[in-house]
Amino acid sequence: MARVYVGLGSNLGRRAEAIREASDRMEDAGAMLVALSPLYETEPWGLVEQPRFINAACALDVPWPPLMTLTILKGIERAMGRVSGARYGPRIIDLDILLFDRVHLVTDRLTIPHPGMLDRATVLVPLADIAADVVHPMTGRTIGDHLGDLGEISGVAPYPPGCRPCAS
Ligand code: AMP
Repeated sequence: MARVYVGLGSNLGRRAEAIREASDRMEDAGAMLVALSPLYETEPWGLVEQPRFINAACALDVPWPPLMTLTILKGIERAMGRVSGARYGPRIIDLDILLFDRVHLVTDRLTIPHPGMLDRATVLVPLADIAADVVHPMTGRTIGDHLGDLGEISGVAPYPPGCRPCAS
């Protein structure tokens, strides 16, 4: 089994339900869901003229190697109705492999750790809820440290509004 951290995002349709459905589908596919973070509503990143996202992170124990894990996550995205569109554009569900044990991998299809994860509060805030002490294999620093490096966070709010943070 490998311990994998996955970032989840949705900004079309029933966003919170899509996050929960995706995590259920990961379990149905054979992963063990170890933790699902609270949900956050976040400002879009990249293409900003689009609906806000719901973001979360989950920890999984998986019996698959990295590329097989990507294939399974992409299959879940397709099964949930995701269609190809603009990079960083609207999506029913987006599943990113953030960390995979202490693997460092760069291929055409897959880069691990996820290359954008350390810059994005939308990723680090939920990830820190379930993995604050986990060490990033390339930097040697914890997820909590990296979140602290971002300084003051804006555009990431507990969802539903008013939860501090809500259980997912
Ligand atoms: P996305 O727009 O997030 O669906 O990602 C587009 C493509 O990025 C995917 O089809 C993957 O082949 C590739 N990719 C590279 N590294 C990763 C990663 N760590 N997690 C998910 N997708 C990745």
